Amino acid sequence: MLAQQRLTSLKGVGDKLAQKLAGLGLTTVQDLLLHLPYRYQDKTRLTPLHALRPFAEQLAQGTITSQRFTQGRRASLLVELDGGALTLRFFHFNHNQARQFLRGKQVRAFGEVRPGPTGLEIVHPQYRIFDPDNPPPLQSTLTPVYHSTEGVGQSTWLKLTEQALSLLRQHPLEELLPHALVQEHALPSLNQALHTVHRPEPDDDLDALMNHTHPAQTRLVLEELLAHQLGLARLRAHKAQLNAPVLPPSNLVNALLVSLPFQLTGAQQRVLEAVQADLQKPHPMQRLVQGDVGSGKTIIAALAALQAADAGYQAAVMAPTEILAEQHRNHFLEWLEPLNVPVAWLNGRLSAAQRREQLARIASGEAKVVIGTHALFQKEVEFARLGLVIIDEQHRFGVHQRLALHQKGQAAGLHPHQLIMTATPIPRTLAMAAYGDLDVSVIDELPPGRKPVHTAVMSMDKRLEVMDHLAERCREGVQAYWVCPLIEQSDALDAQAAEETLKLFAQRHPDLQVGLVHGRMKAQDKDAIMQAFKAGDLQLLVATTVIEVGVNVPNASLMVIENAERLGLAQLHQLRGRVGRGAKQSHCVLLYQPPLSDTARRRLQIMRETTDGFKIAEEDLAIRGPGEVLGTRQTGGLTFRLAELPRDEALLPTARQWAQWLLHNSPELADALHARWLHNRQDYALA
Ligand code: ADP
Ligand code: MG
Repeated sequence: MLAQQRLTSLKGVGDKLAQKLAGLGLTTVQDLLLHLPYRYQDKTRLTPLHALRPFAEQLAQGTITSQRFTQGRRASLLVELDGGALTLRFFHFNHNQARQFLRGKQVRAFGEVRPGPTGLEIVHPQYRIFDPDNPPPLQSTLTPVYHSTEGVGQSTWLKLTEQALSLLRQHPLEELLPHALVQEHALPSLNQALHTVHRPEPDDDLDALMNHTHPAQTRLVLEELLAHQLGLARLRAHKAQLNAPVLPPSNLVNALLVSLPFQLTGAQQRVLEAVQADLQKPHPMQRLVQGDVGSGKTIIAALAALQAADAGYQAAVMAPTEILAEQHRNHFLEWLEPLNVPVAWLNGRLSAAQRREQLARIASGEAKVVIGTHALFQKEVEFARLGLVIIDEQHRFGVHQRLALHQKGQAAGLHPHQLIMTATPIPRTLAMAAYGDLDVSVIDELPPGRKPVHTAVMSMDKRLEVMDHLAERCREGVQAYWVCPLIEQSDALDAQAAEETLKLFAQRHPDLQVGLVHGRMKAQDKDAIMQAFKAGDLQLLVATTVIEVGVNVPNASLMVIENAERLGLAQLHQLRGRVGRGAKQSHCVLLYQPPLSDTARRRLQIMRETTDGFKIAEEDLAIRGPGEVLGTRQTGGLTFRLAELPRDEALLPTARQWAQWLLHNSPELADALHARWLHNRQDYALA
């Protein structure tokens, strides 16, 4: 009922307002009820002036004892109550306003009380001058404050929610949480919770409400998380019923393992075993492998691809950038050609003839492993027998791209296995929320002999000093990166900054061999430079952030990142991961342009303190929130209405556990919950 009732049916909601509300995702009365206040004000009681506490919002009243103007840095109007027990300060005021504040008048004021130069004050309070014989009534509930949009004031929200709550009284929403859950956690009913969050009683716990830990809020968030987990569990169950090719253990896998110059780490071994077991099942593998930069994911991909190839199926390996795809191709050729496993290769810059040839090899099934960028999921690419899809550095791809490749394999009712590899270390709770439909393995160990990168943070004033020092090290045989990050989202400016750095370097140190890569270069030129750097012919590589993902030159052990304050934690971590790949002690210098914002300072400090990708990701999550950590395109299922991570992460295990319970014991309730919360959120349900 309320789930269908349009907001336009409410008093005061015309087309214009309805449109603004729709912009916030609100079209029905139920939507409005689920648009919760983000904070509250207590105007239900007066705080005596002598009892006011600084740094809290309070309602107070008193008699005007003086009014004056000050001419400081900012002119202000000061209205003193009760001989200065509280001062009301206005920076913006007009003369009419100033004239109202007559000595002897009674004023009631609300706002945050702060210590001022002469005592407690409130800056720009909400206020009212009143007749002492007829004081305005106090509010009967705490006052909710709603996130809003331009042109919709808080008074509008109050009027709308008032009507919605009265409709709710007439047509209560159906209670969908299992009774036992509600009892176990002593939660209020849905309808009670909605009344409480929109109009808390004066004695409701204001601190809890402000911290979003009030049982009424918990009740609602838990229901949403539960519905979300139900969606993921269903998706998982659905996928478990699909058929996939059975890929038995392969001798080629052992042959490759024996030929490697290193042994797999324990963590790689564990993940490989999980993948091998998945591939032998008649249902599609859905596995996410998380492994910090340099943890050795590529070899796992190659071993999985071999298992598919040996069973007569094709494996597609998709990388997010040309450079990475190229690098994978080189590794795969090196590993697979000696085993007579043909590798095909697709990217955006093959000539028409080369492309036709590669497409033919893929379509005929001659090529067993196909490597490429997103060029792999174009329409013309037809696989003969796709059995395994491997997606590297998953955060660069959207859910839809993952889907498109998935669908390519659906020949003869068989769905390909999927292996997703990401270097974005996703905190456990977030993984549970975002990828509840996937199995997650973690490579939580680096190959032996790696030493954590030493990181120093310095102001840009030191730029030339750093440059000269780096040149000195290069003369001693060290290879280094100098990264010039994005300037204002412009490839052109970005490239220019890198070019200027290169010039400056060449002027000061003409004896050194320096290369340049940036996003505007021709692919061949870029590759040639990368190859020269890899071969050790270049001592320094000046680059834009194109080298961010996956580039592997183990001998490089020094990195300087300019304007590091502009980059996010995840990106800094990725970039820094280009060094520290060999046995040599590596160093990274983060140059920043002062002054630093608080967040930038915090980011750089974290980078200096740790190289642990998971710790960095946790911090990143705390600073930025999950949407940005995963990249917005991945978060189709993660844009919650009410829940917020990591704030509500403690509720996830409960949500997960009860989702299982509901699926087994009460599928009708599960359906209803799913419909209430996810009815128009199909995106992630398909991936
Ligand atoms: P990432 O997980 O970042 O993709 P790579 O797969 O590129 O890491 O591996 C980084 C480097 O470590 C490569 O040079 C790779 O050959 C090497 N490597 C991988 N596994 C091991 C191992 N178990 N022991 C030693 N070196 C390894
Ligand atoms: Mg990699």
